[in-house]
Amino acid sequence: MHIVAKFYETYNMCAVVDEFLKNTLDNALLLEGFHCDEQWASWLAPYQRYSVFHQFIEYVVRGFHSDQADEFDIDKNKRIYKSLKGIPAAISDLKPHKLPIEEAFSHHGIDHQSFFEYLADIGKAFEDADANDIYDFMNEIWISAAYEDLMKQTVDEVFHVLFQNRELMLMFNDYASGILSQGHWDRVEGLDRSLLAPSGTLARVRPPRWAQRAVFFRDRGQCVLCGKDLSGLVSLENFENFDHIVPLSGWGLNDITNLQLLCAPCNQHEKRDGGAITSGRYQSWYSMEE
Ligand SMILES: [Zn+2]
Repeated sequence: MHIVAKFYETYNMCAVVDEFLKNTLDNALLLEGFHCDEQWASWLAPYQRYSVFHQFIEYVVRGFHSDQADEFDIDKNKRIYKSLKGIPAAISDLKPHKLPIEEAFSHHGIDHQSFFEYLADIGKAFEDADANDIYDFMNEIWISAAYEDLMKQTVDEVFHVLFQNRELMLMFNDYASGILSQGHWDRVEGLDRSLLAPSGTLARVRPPRWAQRAVFFRDRGQCVLCGKDLSGLVSLENFENFDHIVPLSGWGLNDITNLQLLCAPCNQHEKRDGGAITSGRYQSWYSMEE
């Protein structure tokens, strides 16, 4: 069980996810596409391995790639291409005919049809290509198996980096709970009522073993609020220490990104307050003191 991270543009995408979640109001229009038309109904199934946050990252990554394609200055690159035409070494070095998405494929070692080959197929030279050709090419990319591979790899990497940031997980789950609380539940076709508590929010579901293990390791077996060592207490039979960052009663999700380790006293204290809570407290790799 591992991922091989290439860290190609990974941190840029992490920053976009972060920016979206820090400014959900400013980004309301962009975020709309993620949850409109009751798409949030797919968030209700408990503990999906491809978590709701994975779905969110996928949405952001697709927008990122789409923006890159829109911002590609085809005229400028055509000029560069023309000026280098007699110097193949310079062309293969600068790659003015290569779109950003192709760079991403290359870095991840994923075979794909190039824009150049696509143009050749439709009988066009790069010098005659325009923004419409990029648009048509991208439409083929979106539905290709190569793009599916790229997306899987990219989402895995972004999730790998961001999952450990509990305050960001709080922001995401807070945003998601806001959508659920305002959702038109009557419009959801075939809504599985067994997922719901009598109050209408999501019912408590025991986190599966893989989710418990991931959260236990992320939080290093310690209460995230007071640092108490829970490694002797946490077991499959005793899952009370897995706390919902955004409480279920506050429209929180049964999603791995909404879990954290808490000791019983901190859990009780939190329940008295009723709000979403986590900490930016992490065990450091090593101490700065001798
Ligand atoms: Zn504690």
